[in-house]
Amino acid sequence: SPILVGITGGIGSGKSTVAKIFSILGIPIYSADDRAKWLMGNDEHLKSQIKDAFGEESYLSDGALDRDFLAKTVFSDPPKVKTINSLVHPAVGRDFKDWAFQQTAPYVLKEAALIFETGSNDSLDHVINVSSPLKVRIARTLMRDPFRSEEQVNQIINQQLPDEQKNELADFVIKNTDNKLLIPQVLKIHQQLISEN
Ligand code: ATP
Repeated sequence: SPILVGITGGIGSGKSTVAKIFSILGIPIYSADDRAKWLMGNDEHLKSQIKDAFGEESYLSDGALDRDFLAKTVFSDPPKVKTINSLVHPAVGRDFKDWAFQQTAPYVLKEAALIFETGSNDSLDHVINVSSPLKVRIARTLMRDPFRSEEQVNQIINQQLPDEQKNELADFVIKNTDNKLLIPQVLKIHQQLISEN
């Protein structure tokens, strides 16, 4: 089965952009954030855990996740955020393993904003950190998400491990500064991962 590689980076670092380059090389990409949302709405085991923790009101009568309810009652309350994360992260971890096992590639990528923060690096063979200067990340995020204020972006940044620490913990660092080319950096890591398998 494939080597399991995480790709992370703070908000606006460019991890989705870099993941797209890997996908052009034929590498399967698992988006942990998208998949977490899907699992909250569709994984029966996780759904019953969420109902036990926050009540039947967490789901609408048609069985869909009540996002407004969760936004109001869970995501504004830090201990509750911890609880929901403690349910969702293991579910994503299991789902990623099942998915990876079915892929026929030398390695696969799990794209996630939080990897070291959640300890999911323990179940990965390698982690890549996409690293960009803070100023550049803030500017890119505000350009991409005009609905966010600079204050909101800073708030998200403060919930993430500092970039320097992620660079130290990562096996590979891709520098996504405006004067650095991404493709040569991706190719070098790709060659190395392929030669491992
Ligand atoms: P998030 O954690 O918010 O999902 P991300 O790390 O996945 O962010 P991207 O969405 O890949 O970041 O990049 C943020 C924005 O910056 C996007 O609009 C993207 O097109 C742009 N961007 C990324 N890298 C570069 C680059 N090297 N040059 C110019 N623009 C870039």
